[in-house]
Amino acid sequence: MSRVYNFSAGPAVLPEEVLQEAAAEMLDYKGTGMSVMEMSHRSKAFEDIIHTAEADLRELLHIPDNYKVLFLQGGAHQQFAMIPMNLMKNKVADYIVTGQWAKKAWQEAQKYGTANKAASSEDKTYSYIPDCSDLPISPDADYVYICENNTIYGTKFKTLPNTKGKTLVADVSSCFLSEPMDVEKYGVIYGGAQKNIGPAGVVIAIIREDLITEDVLPGTPTMLTYKTHADAESLYNTPNCYGIYMCGKVFQWLKKQGGLGAMKEHNEKKAKILYDYLDESAMFRGTVEPASRSLMNVPFVTGDKNLDAKFIKEATEAGFVNLKGHRSVGGMRASIYNAMPIQGVEALVAFMKKFEKENA
Ligand code: PMP
Repeated sequence: MSRVYNFSAGPAVLPEEVLQEAAAEMLDYKGTGMSVMEMSHRSKAFEDIIHTAEADLRELLHIPDNYKVLFLQGGAHQQFAMIPMNLMKNKVADYIVTGQWAKKAWQEAQKYGTANKAASSEDKTYSYIPDCSDLPISPDADYVYICENNTIYGTKFKTLPNTKGKTLVADVSSCFLSEPMDVEKYGVIYGGAQKNIGPAGVVIAIIREDLITEDVLPGTPTMLTYKTHADAESLYNTPNCYGIYMCGKVFQWLKKQGGLGAMKEHNEKKAKILYDYLDESAMFRGTVEPASRSLMNVPFVTGDKNLDAKFIKEATEAGFVNLKGHRSVGGMRASIYNAMPIQGVEALVAFMKKFEKENA
């Protein structure tokens, strides 16, 4: 067996230990004589899986009791609609547009009410996070929306926006559980699992209870109403059982690593190796303003499209895969989520140095 260093932005690398455990339990989960994939979502075994997963997530993020944890489906895209449908009581919301995913969420919200663009970094290809300390927040805004880590552009909010008392909603798909969070500062935190947490097909939403009501926009489907899922403890319909099981395993792995404080330290150390090299290299350079750099997604370029393509080709052959930048940016992007070992980044930097020497 040979595993590559997988720098995919998502679905992405998972901890090898977790994959091995899942493989060992594939045919017979804890003496049930069946795989978790074959199990009723109403069975005792699965109830234990989902309850343990929720308890571990609550412990990792210190989620207060007045927040619900929901395991949903439909991808992050479905949340682009569920958020306005459930939260737009005044039919007004303010969006901070720091990349393609925030822009898509903002555009989707326009279907349901007035979605204002409170700030944007589109003027410089989303290569920075704008100053959000004193934005023109709408007096009647139901919420202020951010995408906390911008997967494509490699930027991250280092301080949360001043929402002037309005509910903060954050898409944390690509920075989920990469560092501690102060959950109480948010009304809704949500993310797709397929980057830092598990396989694709699970979305986790952490929502303050007072925001979960029956007072949703007229016509909101039952399945798109948070209350439906909150009342049924994420078992209103058949959830992504196997996905939730895998997420649960990753939560346990994170606890074993020392929790989110330890993950933050690990991620900072890991990202620094790559950023330090990008800062000193005469060939490669990072595309993001240093103060806004993400710990998870690191885009970089040589400035020459042909050289970028040569690098990606040779890197792939050497076992460093999925380094091609998003089609809207070009160049390269290394996604270095929790499960990417430090050796993966060290080996990548060694390869980049060799490439730089050979192609100078
Ligand atoms: N938000 C962010 C920050 C993302 O990175 C992505 C996917 N790459 C999405 C939303 C969309 O996720 P999905 O494909 O699960 O709808």
